[in-house]
Amino acid sequence: EAATAAPVKRVLLAAPRGYCAGVDRAVVAVEKALETYGAPVYVRKEIVHNKHVVETLRERGAIFVNDTDEVPPGARLVFSAHGVSPAVRDAAAARSLATIDATCPLVTKVHKEAVRFANDDYDILLIGHTGHEEVEGTAGEAPDHVQVVNSPDEVDQVVVRDPAKVVWISQTTLSVDETMETVRRLRERFPSLQDPPSDDICYATQNRQVAVKKLAPEADVVIVVGSANSSNSVRLVEVALQAGAGSAYRVDRAAEIQDEWLLGATTVGVTSGASVPEILVQDVIAHLQGHGFGQVEEVRTATEELMFSLPRELRAGLKAAG
Ligand code: SF4
Repeated sequence: EAATAAPVKRVLLAAPRGYCAGVDRAVVAVEKALETYGAPVYVRKEIVHNKHVVETLRERGAIFVNDTDEVPPGARLVFSAHGVSPAVRDAAAARSLATIDATCPLVTKVHKEAVRFANDDYDILLIGHTGHEEVEGTAGEAPDHVQVVNSPDEVDQVVVRDPAKVVWISQTTLSVDETMETVRRLRERFPSLQDPPSDDICYATQNRQVAVKKLAPEADVVIVVGSANSSNSVRLVEVALQAGAGSAYRVDRAAEIQDEWLLGATTVGVTSGASVPEILVQDVIAHLQGHGFGQVEEVRTATEELMFSLPRELRAGLKAAG
């Protein structure tokens, strides 16, 4: 008599996942600034969009502020990985703040594109989310030339001065597929729409989406570790669902996983956003193992080796401090 074997309950772990080069650099910049100059070090906005990272740095003496006017004149201020507009830089200079710019170099690249196309007097359509810090920073490079397009549905409302002189650029952490749909619709309206010189959606965002897409069709549930304000983490949930995951949830940490999500599941996919420390993912895996998902298989679609050197001002400071 053949007994029906219980299905193997397993975890498919996406790779790449978690920290990207820009986040790693920004977090290390705050750590080094604290070590070199001592607390407090001020940080404008969340250095990266992750609760755990922000809380850990706060415990070590970082003070997170919303804007430069909350920082005592002359104090040290770190700009977050998402970048700042020239107006913010000017405000910091006017207050004589010692700034350390932890803007991700891949965000800076998009700023430079905005400046260049504005100098050539293009209408710049910035695909991205209104209110996101990165979008505020990029748009602030050329406020008279940039308009933000949030989604494919907003394309019909776009008004430009000269349809022959329009370019699109984007936030670095969007869904690749949705962005391409926005571009397709924009091009229907503006056939001579110009593409940015290179991909604005960064390598880390793209790689994490490709990996989760690969495992999603096999997953009854996908758990994305990441904070609610992390754009690329929230996109991973959407991408997983579109790629065929039975369901998909975002959690900041393992304790947020609800037992009912796992009911009847045999395969759980796990990934994490670009601002998420690996320890939070390992906690999720331990939690799933405690729920019988004993087997962990990695699904790798790329290998990442990119690293950025620390912000220039900090390297100079480290050198001076010996
Ligand atoms: Fe830079 Fe991309 Fe990471 Fe953002 S997600 S910090 S753009 S590498």
